[in-house]
Amino acid sequence: MVVFGGTGDLAMRKLLPALYYLHRDGHLHPDTRILALARAQHSLESYRKLVKRHVGQHVPRRDFDQSVWELFAERLDYLSLDVSQRVAFPRLTKVLKPGTGRVRVFYLATLPSLFAPTVQHLAAVGLTDEHARVVLEKPLGESLQTATRINEQIGQVFDESRVFRIDHYLGKEAVQNLLALRFGNALFEPLWRNAHIDHVQISVLESVGVENRGDYYDRAGAMRDMVQNHLLQLLCLVAMEAPVHFEPEAVRNEKLKILEALRPITGMDVQDRTVRGQYAAGEHAGERLPAYYFEKSVDHDSNTETFVALQAEIDNWRWAGVPFYLRTGKCMAQRKSEIVIQFKPVPHKLFPHHGDSPENNRLIISLQPDEGIRLSLMAKSPGRGMGLQQVELDLNFDEAFTRRRWDAYERLLLDVIEGDATLFMRRDEIGAAWRWVDPIIDGWRDCYRSPKRYPAGSWGPEAADSLLERRGHRWLDQR
Ligand code: NAP
Repeated sequence: MVVFGGTGDLAMRKLLPALYYLHRDGHLHPDTRILALARAQHSLESYRKLVKRHVGQHVPRRDFDQSVWELFAERLDYLSLDVSQRVAFPRLTKVLKPGTGRVRVFYLATLPSLFAPTVQHLAAVGLTDEHARVVLEKPLGESLQTATRINEQIGQVFDESRVFRIDHYLGKEAVQNLLALRFGNALFEPLWRNAHIDHVQISVLESVGVENRGDYYDRAGAMRDMVQNHLLQLLCLVAMEAPVHFEPEAVRNEKLKILEALRPITGMDVQDRTVRGQYAAGEHAGERLPAYYFEKSVDHDSNTETFVALQAEIDNWRWAGVPFYLRTGKCMAQRKSEIVIQFKPVPHKLFPHHGDSPENNRLIISLQPDEGIRLSLMAKSPGRGMGLQQVELDLNFDEAFTRRRWDAYERLLLDVIEGDATLFMRRDEIGAAWRWVDPIIDGWRDCYRSPKRYPAGSWGPEAADSLLERRGHRWLDQR
């Protein structure tokens, strides 16, 4: 496992803790070695110390064991190398001998602008044989054009079966449970269509701001950072047809069909069906939060969006007429990711109901902070009469499964080692997602430059509420 960017935030917070768990639980072959690379100078000892500090921070105390750590540390190696310098790569072949027939995973946890040079330089020194595979972190490009260029450059070295484009949302247990729920149960599938579903809401909300990623974020914004990948992938899993097999091509073919069926949002629709926001100063949990444009490394005149809400439509038989509302934001009132499937009301009301919820059912799939599935049903209120009230069947995964649940990166890293690409994005999926997203970003740039302000710690701009209200809906989690 060769981790480019081996001193970075992603490596320290996610990849190395995930590898520690895979090692601890006996999922790594005894000969597996982890080679980390970055420009910083480290001795092997100082690098191992650095990793130990971070793994210690990110793995709960009960899971960290000194004797396990010592064996894990023996797998770790470090090399200082600037990947933009082709002349540096022959040094790599002293550590990684070409032509050994070993499976090698090159994990590119660096800026996307370094992806193409890295693989070209690896190829030049003979390290990209048929046993090598490459993992690319999101965001892949900034537009269809840049993503296509990166994919073409990678494709000159690695054929598609050896390219793993990671979207860690797909590694989450709750996301895979969405597939299990849909395709492992007979109960929901007959209802999973426009005849019975009123609309769908997909939200990925963070309570934190851009933290120390202002430089990257100010160039990307919420649309490129979250919607183009995580939210559209979730939408695909909700909306896709049952694949014939649970195998990479079958699953990815079905996801692609959904991306291709998304109705384009262009011209006036950009104003009508999308809302972009940017957080102003505010407060969360008693703490004052600065406006986005005062964050470190963010331009004071920035028009970058930190919030997006939009209404997507899928033009196919199953979903015609069902709005899919997508929403993501930073500095929101709550941290949570969830999918809400709102079913239609009963065709004829027999009973009065109490409270403000109409007589209909709702399925809520929570992805974070808690993972679980809730189904709201109408039940008779205790006492006289036949008044109804809403109650929930609540499946909390923490309570249902006592075994520790894997982090998304553990699952996905093991899939890469085993060569299983089912939960990774194929090149044409990336293209289709950008093809849909690009005209929205163009529309904002050409006509609606200024994002709407919302106080940090709130539920986003009011326009996001109006987006749903105009269609007789409301966000089902707020106010
Ligand atoms: P980061 O903290 O800035 O780390 C970047 C890493 O790349 C560092 O180890 C850096 O070390 C190394 N690096 C930079 N230039 C290099 C060069 N020319 N040659 C060799 N190494 C070089 O970034 P990150 O947050 O870990 O993110 C890495 C990638 O993952 C990005 O594409 C990001 O968008 C993506 N990602 C990150 C997260 C996350 O949670 N952090 C989540 C999803 C996706 P030196 O400076 O010492 O070279």
